[in-house]
Amino acid sequence: MSQPTLRIAVIGAGPAGIYASDLLVKNAASIGREVHVDLIEKLPAPFGLIRYGVAPDHPRIKGIITSLHRVLDRPEIRLLGNIEIGRDVTVEELREHYDAVIFATGAIADRDLDIPGVDAQGSFGAADFVGFYDGNPEFPRTWDLSAQSVAVIGVGNVGLDVARVLSKTADELNVTEIPDNVYETLRTNQATEVHVFGRRGPAQAKFTPQELKELDHSPTVNVVVDPEDIDYDDASIEARSSSKSQDLVCQTLEGYAIREPKDAPHTLQIHLFESPTEILTRDGRVVGLRTERTELDGTGHVRGTGTFTDWPVQAVYRAVGYRSEPVPGVPFNHVEHVIPNDGGHVLDPAGTPVPGLYATGWIKRGPVGLIGNTKSDAKETTDLLLADAAAGLLDAPLHPADAFLQLLDARGIPVTTWEGWYRLDAAERALGEASGVEGKERRKIVEWEEMVSHAHITPAYV
Ligand SMILES: Cc1cc2nc3c(=O)[nH]c(=O)nc-3n(C[C@H](O)[C@H](O)[C@H](O)COP(=O)(O)OP(=O)(O)OC[C@H]3O[C@@H](n4cnc5c(N)ncnc54)[C@H](O)[C@@H]3O)c2cc1C
Repeated sequence: MSQPTLRIAVIGAGPAGIYASDLLVKNAASIGREVHVDLIEKLPAPFGLIRYGVAPDHPRIKGIITSLHRVLDRPEIRLLGNIEIGRDVTVEELREHYDAVIFATGAIADRDLDIPGVDAQGSFGAADFVGFYDGNPEFPRTWDLSAQSVAVIGVGNVGLDVARVLSKTADELNVTEIPDNVYETLRTNQATEVHVFGRRGPAQAKFTPQELKELDHSPTVNVVVDPEDIDYDDASIEARSSSKSQDLVCQTLEGYAIREPKDAPHTLQIHLFESPTEILTRDGRVVGLRTERTELDGTGHVRGTGTFTDWPVQAVYRAVGYRSEPVPGVPFNHVEHVIPNDGGHVLDPAGTPVPGLYATGWIKRGPVGLIGNTKSDAKETTDLLLADAAAGLLDAPLHPADAFLQLLDARGIPVTTWEGWYRLDAAERALGEASGVEGKERRKIVEWEEMVSHAHITPAYV
């Protein structure tokens, strides 16, 4: 007798969840089973941080969404959006309806930065600003952009995204998919100086070369690096020579340091060897950022020099990394902010694998790496799952295939679907065309209810 179809729930329709769904369907034949995947997403639209993290002026990266259509078009994969696991449906319930559950819930919040003044008005988490400008329906619709001088803490790609969006003009960004409320708010931006601060040197900066180079493409932004901020010790030289990408980062920073300043209305200065120690405040508002000068210690690390500088800025953006949130009912490591796992197999507090529960993507290994990295991650997790299925280690679902949709129906949840995404997509493209802005392919819809009104279609029972 042929084996019954394996029913898997993948939680989170970001790249990790989508790649995992794809691999499950593609590789199921290797264990002689068919697989059906329900890809369950909290938001009304799929694609996770590709839609709500990648900067709007990076259309090439956003274009990965198009290649993911091929996966979501597969009949074995069913997108069920507008369902938050842990709130609308418990993990226990999922386990009763599926052979296995993969968590691919990513990261959406800012990591804490523990310096005085961090709670002042004008001190912002980069993740919140990203959520605003990328039109995530869970984030604010307006933003205080009254600061003329702004500090961004963190020398990684997210810091650069934030600095670039704050430095460009609203009109430069309006050709992208940004929604109207974001355009209108960006028009109020007073920033003429944006200062990006990193505690270490060029050989330790976490930018990718392309992002760093591309900063200079805007005619309205003059990118500056102080020649004093270019320094290497033996370990830095070694780090640079062993990584082509790091070497390109160093070359680009050196290029910015030695060239003539560009005549542009906005300055974006990258400061290296400056460690932020305090956000300065007056009457609860940000009035500056204090940094301590650092120097290399010979091992590629830095030490403080005891020399402090106060930078007069009216806003500080903290781009020091993302942080994942726990899903109720799933083990969570509150120090590393990941689901504890062994190669993707979820572990209980005693370190024992929890049967039928898996993790992949940023929730599995922390919020580092590019979209492409989530693919190899998904391979590891899905190989494990399929091996467990082949070994008979997964408990069969307690309920028939249709029961999960009946449960959602009974709870009155307006589920959004893949067919619904096509309608939302078409509506956003029509808004882009109607905007009259040349080259604007899409204008994002931000309001949750409006998204649902386009994308809600009662899913077909299987
Ligand atoms: C600001 C920023 C810019 C970036 N720019 C780039 C770039 O230019 N190029 C690049 O390659 N990479 C970029 N990245 C990295 C890339 O976005 C990540 O590598 C990738 O998105 C991680 O994928 P993921 O699927 O693990 O998580 P996510 O993309 O975060 O997806 C997780 C999904 O799970 C959903 N979810 C969460 N909790 C629940 C729940 N309880 N129930 C149901 N669903 C849930 C979320 O809504 C989300 O859709 C950027 C990241 C950030 C933060």
